[in-house]
Amino acid sequence: MQEKILIANRGEIALRIIRACKELGITSAVVYTPADKDSLPVKMADEAYPLKENKSYLNIEEIINTALKNQVTAIHPGYGFLAENSKFAKSCLDAGIKFIGPSAKAIELMGDKAVAREIMKKAGVPVIPGSDGEIDDFREALKVADEIGYPVIVKAAGGGGGRGMRIVHTPKELEEAIQSAAREAASTFGNSKLYLEKYLQDCRHVEFQILADQYGNAVYLGERDCSLQRRNQKVIEEGPCHVLTERMRKKMGELAVRSAMAVHYAGAGTVEFLLDDRGNFYFIEMNTRIQVEHPVTEMITGIDIVKEQIKIGLGERLSITQKDVKIYGHAIECRVNAEDPISFIPTPGEIKKLMLPQGPFVRVDTAVYEGYTIPPYYDSMIAKLIVWGRNREEAIIRMKRALEEFVIGGVTTNLPFLRKVMDNAFYRRGEVYTNFIKRRMEPLT
Ligand code: ADP
Repeated sequence: MQEKILIANRGEIALRIIRACKELGITSAVVYTPADKDSLPVKMADEAYPLKENKSYLNIEEIINTALKNQVTAIHPGYGFLAENSKFAKSCLDAGIKFIGPSAKAIELMGDKAVAREIMKKAGVPVIPGSDGEIDDFREALKVADEIGYPVIVKAAGGGGGRGMRIVHTPKELEEAIQSAAREAASTFGNSKLYLEKYLQDCRHVEFQILADQYGNAVYLGERDCSLQRRNQKVIEEGPCHVLTERMRKKMGELAVRSAMAVHYAGAGTVEFLLDDRGNFYFIEMNTRIQVEHPVTEMITGIDIVKEQIKIGLGERLSITQKDVKIYGHAIECRVNAEDPISFIPTPGEIKKLMLPQGPFVRVDTAVYEGYTIPPYYDSMIAKLIVWGRNREEAIIRMKRALEEFVIGGVTTNLPFLRKVMDNAFYRRGEVYTNFIKRRMEPLT
């Protein structure tokens, strides 16, 4: 049967998936909201179906009905929106449509980060000292915090995007932190469940890309270092992580695969760890979708992750084994955001001038074009700039050159900030911990 994949997403990731479909000879379709009617995915997909409202990318019923009306055989959720909504995955299957992602059960288990911690503990994967599952009240939190020692971090079990977290340095601050984290979690994720972890200072965020098919075969495609974050959200990612030895890579990669297998995972996924300077590492969460930063891994492995993900989702076996995975050189990705450089408030509006960087080993994933108006309703990320070099030093020089070529007129972006990072001596030496921006870049000017 000829497959027809509906992309329940927008922007650069919708384009990325359309491209994968074209190379696989699969019909691609997108849904789009009124605000996105002039977007590139609508122009580039084989088919495009309108949705009613600007928030319709979150409307399960409307998307499934649209898919059924148009003989769609599979749905790709991209990232964000419904990508990690287990109800959506289940609704697709109930409607007889394949969901390009793991089972609803795997999404549900990993989507509750307090539950995921417990599953990992049982599977023998190290987790950060903290609460056993969720914390029910302040007294319990106080007891756990006393045991593990301050500082601690209060985190939302259903959290994502760095939201719903509070670092706590003394017992006195704990109650207020719990209340405000619960409030933020309830309003952002509709789930006020919290858990507690020891807060690790000077650590790196190191995550492993994995691919697993529906028949129990799985591989890891090396790691990405995503330590360069602003308010616990990634800004620059790179791979490989330059402080990992081959032995550590193998150990962490195998544990990442074990993490995924613990929930019978199938699809593309990412297992995230925090790594300290003494080589201790701890599971923090698993993302059950394609990630923004997947191109970093594509550049260093030569593997098209989205194509593999689609094939797996359609029921094919993994086409590679661990032996086939080789890491070449170094790749860096910068997230280009339309935002104010100091307040980070999004700056939607018309892109009056656009010149994309080019040249050898430079990749730009974007859905914007000159004359395009960035709508105010969605994410502020408007492009991803990815470069490859034979080693980290060459990749940094190339990124600096590519960022200098990049011109976006009409809206304010973080391009000047990204350029500054490439010139930062600590960044160049690879002394990048998750507190890098606060410690090495502030005050922002
Ligand atoms: P989210 O799902 O919101 O992305 P994560 O659990 O993946 O949340 O954490 C995001 C980031 O927050 C991490 O990369 C790290 O910088 C910081 N963080 C989370 N937990 C801890 C911790 N226990 N200690 C120190 N930093 C942490």
